Amino acid sequence: MKINTDLLHAQQKHDPVTGSHVSPLYQTSTFVLPNFDEAVRLNQNIDQGFVYSRFGNPTVDEFERKVAHLEQAEAAVASASGLGAITLAVMSLVKTGDHVIFGDVIYGCTFALFTKILPSLGVAYTIVDTTNPEAIEAAIKPNTVLVYVETPANPTLKISDIEAVSKVTKKHEKVKLVVDSTFASPYLQNPIVLGADMVVHSATKYLCGHGTVTAGVLAGSKELIDRAKMPYLQCFGSVLDPFAAWTIMQGMKTLGVRMEKHCSNAMKVAEFLDNHPMVDKVYYPGLPSHESHETAKKQMKDFGAMMSVDIKGGIDSCRTVMNSVKVFSLATSLGNVDSLIQHSPTMSHFDMTLEERCKVNIFDGQVRISVGIEDVEDLIEDLDQALKSIK
Ligand SMILES: *Cc1c(COP(=O)(O)O)cnc(C)c1O
Repeated sequence: MKINTDLLHAQQKHDPVTGSHVSPLYQTSTFVLPNFDEAVRLNQNIDQGFVYSRFGNPTVDEFERKVAHLEQAEAAVASASGLGAITLAVMSLVKTGDHVIFGDVIYGCTFALFTKILPSLGVAYTIVDTTNPEAIEAAIKPNTVLVYVETPANPTLKISDIEAVSKVTKKHEKVKLVVDSTFASPYLQNPIVLGADMVVHSATKYLCGHGTVTAGVLAGSKELIDRAKMPYLQCFGSVLDPFAAWTIMQGMKTLGVRMEKHCSNAMKVAEFLDNHPMVDKVYYPGLPSHESHETAKKQMKDFGAMMSVDIKGGIDSCRTVMNSVKVFSLATSLGNVDSLIQHSPTMSHFDMTLEERCKVNIFDGQVRISVGIEDVEDLIEDLDQALKSIK
């Protein structure tokens, strides 16, 4: 089936007991087991079935299968947040003495995981510009086990060529490629099809779409995902609550129509801002002037709805704009049906130093915009009046 049909029907189970059309929500921590011997077999993973919701839950299981299907992966594992899923991916691959490579523009807390937590476990790292596959090749060492790429990258929207990067990582048997595809969602790109070993999403964002829950999901081969499940890394306990999984599945039904509207609105907002006298630069891969425009065109179905904007006048102008918007909400996060605006240097990327940030174009005078599905004329008018209030 094609993707809009899959979003509605893939892995959907109509309840055989009641006939409930929408998949039931199994809001339970534990499951009644039929007898002692079967309980032993289920607990020891000899028989497949549900025992306890940290090990597996039918609602969470349906969400995982649905994402695996959309990403053309064999399996998936859900987590309580995007960072939970990223942690599962990383910890399933690294051990003391290993080396990891990651992109110079990535989500702030992921940056903190790699630069603050992994070194304390004896894992070394190299930061590279992952839009340059040769730079990745040059950074690979005998003990490298992971290349971690975020594309589109938060917040400057750099696009890494997943296929080109995978050609590099595939030359090294021990090196796995993990792609954070949150900004694209499974609707705009499928990293596994392009050669990645695992794909991770903050399901808090476009998959859910309505800003109601935090969640994450990691998809890949059964062999890789099994390492992130019971009886291994799920012992970390970062599991998704059934209600959150059920809520995201309601959102996912409209992922396609939402993304179409998100993308067409974003293109118009980007063009408006690009021509605005108070704007220095717009970072949106849909603009031909963006450094990654050609890669985005090749790799993604459309350009997404995230952008960053350098505003004339620096941080003071950002303060005025963010205090003046009326339709946009001053809020971190992204991918909601409604539009959000945030200040990356002090919000999503506060973990980076000024020097680290400026080197990769995350400037103090920069806001990040998540374009929603409102009528685009209202969004443009709102940004225009906010930019006009700069003294
Ligand atoms: C938000 C985000 C994350 C973290 O996800 P949470 O659900 O907030 O834990 C990771 N990567 C990207 C690109 C994000 O935007």
